Amino acid sequence: MKTIITIAALCLTLTVTAQNTFSHKSKNAEVILLSEGQRVSNLNNLIGLTPEIIADVAPDKTYPGATNAFLIRTGGRNILVDTGHGRELFNNLKAFGVSPEDIDIILLTHLHGDHIGGLVKEGVRMFPKAALYLSKKEFESASESALKIINHYSKEMVQFEPGVDTPLKVYDKIESMACYGHTPGHTAFIIDDLVIWGDLTHAMALQMPYPNIAITYDTDPQMAIKSRLKMLDYIVQNRLKAAGMHIPFPAIGSVKSNEKGGFVFEPLYLK
Ligand SMILES: [Zn+2]
Repeated sequence: MKTIITIAALCLTLTVTAQNTFSHKSKNAEVILLSEGQRVSNLNNLIGLTPEIIADVAPDKTYPGATNAFLIRTGGRNILVDTGHGRELFNNLKAFGVSPEDIDIILLTHLHGDHIGGLVKEGVRMFPKAALYLSKKEFESASESALKIINHYSKEMVQFEPGVDTPLKVYDKIESMACYGHTPGHTAFIIDDLVIWGDLTHAMALQMPYPNIAITYDTDPQMAIKSRLKMLDYIVQNRLKAAGMHIPFPAIGSVKSNEKGGFVFEPLYLK
C-alpha cells in the first residue's frame, strides 16, 4: 500500500512540472485546464482552524494550492471561464491552437484579480471578439479597479441571474448556479456533468474534509461556508464532477461525502 501511494505522489509531481494544461472530454464539450501555476500556502489566512484539524490534515502547517482558468470548447465555440492572472494563460491557449481572437465568450466566476488578470494588458483589451458574462450581483458590487478592467468589454457585456437551487442556462449548454459569499455575486458554471466552481474552495486539503473553514478573502465567510456546503451536497447528490480555480493539478475530479460530514476530492487523470 505504501509503495502505491509513493508512486502515485511521484506521478503527480512529474505531471505538474511537465505541463500546465489538461483536457477533460465530456458529452458536449472539451474542458481544458489553463493553469497559472502551483504553490504551497501557509495557514495564516484560514478562519476556523483548530489544533485538531491542523494535526489531522495539515501537520506541516501548509497546503498545496494553484490558480487556474478553464477553456470550454462546445458547439464550435471557445469559451473561457475566468482568465487567471493572465501570465501563463496565453501560452496555454496557444498550446491548444487557440489565439485571443478565437475566444467567443468569457464567463467570470467573480471579479478578483487572479480571475480577471488576463482581460486587459497595459490598457489593451486582450480578447477583441469575446462577450463578457458575469452575474448581475457581481457587477453591482464591482470595485472601481475591477470596473476599469471589465469596462473594456462594456459593449459586449451580459449580466445574468444565476440559478439558486437548480442551475439556470447561461449560454447554449452551459448553466450557472449562485455560490454567493466568497464575493457578493460569486457564480459556478456547469457543463454536462462538470461543475466549474470558481473559488468555492481555496485550501482543498482543509476545506474538503472541513468545509466550515473559511478564508479571509471571503467577503462574507459565513455565507461562503453555506454556499460551499450546498454546492458540495448538490455535486454529490447528482454525481457530478468538479473543477476549481484553486484546486491543485489536475484541478478536475469527483467528490464524495465522508462519514464525518466532510467531503473527499478524487482527482481525475483523463487525457
Ligand atoms: Zn481566486
